[in-house]
Amino acid sequence: MNILSIEHLTREYGTGDTAVTALNDVSFTVEAGEFIAIIGSSGSGKSTLMHLMGGVDRPTSGTVRLQGQDIFARNDEQLAVFRRREVGLIYQFYNLIPVLNVVENMTLPVLMDGRSVNEQRLSALVRALGLTGREHCLPNQLSGGQQQRVAIARTLAPEPSVLFMDEPLSNLDAKLRLEMRYELQRLHVETGSTFVYVTHDQMEAMTLATQICLIENGVLQQYDAPLTVYHQPNNLFVADFVGNPSINFVEAKGAQRADGAVELTVFQGRKAL
Ligand code: ADP
Ligand code: MG
Repeated sequence: MNILSIEHLTREYGTGDTAVTALNDVSFTVEAGEFIAIIGSSGSGKSTLMHLMGGVDRPTSGTVRLQGQDIFARNDEQLAVFRRREVGLIYQFYNLIPVLNVVENMTLPVLMDGRSVNEQRLSALVRALGLTGREHCLPNQLSGGQQQRVAIARTLAPEPSVLFMDEPLSNLDAKLRLEMRYELQRLHVETGSTFVYVTHDQMEAMTLATQICLIENGVLQQYDAPLTVYHQPNNLFVADFVGNPSINFVEAKGAQRADGAVELTVFQGRKAL
């Protein structure tokens, strides 16, 4: 089932000399239950795309449909309710309330929305996120990884249709990043939710995602399963971006045909040093 349709999304910032086209005519669809990784270099438009998909920002042109409904047909007030109820957003900073404990932090958004807490869901999330026994801890009594788990649990508590994450692991140390990568994958499988995950780390994307959305300069370069992106890159930029280190692609450099297609077996050999 198609859950999200991104149709000709363009987002321009500023006017005149300072105008930036952060996103340029991007279209793709997301199936329910997928794990989409949006990757690209810094400033390529990843966060802009995620914010538009989650209704945090409005496009200059184009539409986003969630379950068939144009999210931008809503006025600002309706869009705010939509974000609270349908969308989960997670950033690199957890923004936990320091004076509230784990459970209080988790339930705050639901209570602020005037709804009652589903105790069963709450305890399932505490378990799923490995927070059992920590329910009454304050954020400063938790490690960075545990705090990020609370932030994730808090976002999942209102049962969002799609969970959006913008570089959520980037301020964790290398070991914790790896652990959390595994946790996210497990959580994705357990919840069956649709995840949209922004990262500049292509290894993270290749290991977590079911679909890769690679953008550069606001233009969608390829939207495919990780192995397809890896073995059949649409162009040399993609081939270079998913190669690590990029010297793996030295033999590929001359292989772009006149029609722009890349005719090569990726990773056919490393450059002699
Ligand atoms: P990424 O997340 O891939 O690093 P962003 O989506 O944040 O990239 O930004 C894409 C481009 O849009 C960049 O050139 C950035 O400077 C510009 N941009 C992003 N947000 C704004 C804004 N609010 N005002 C002006 N320019 C912006
Ligand atoms: Mg960003």
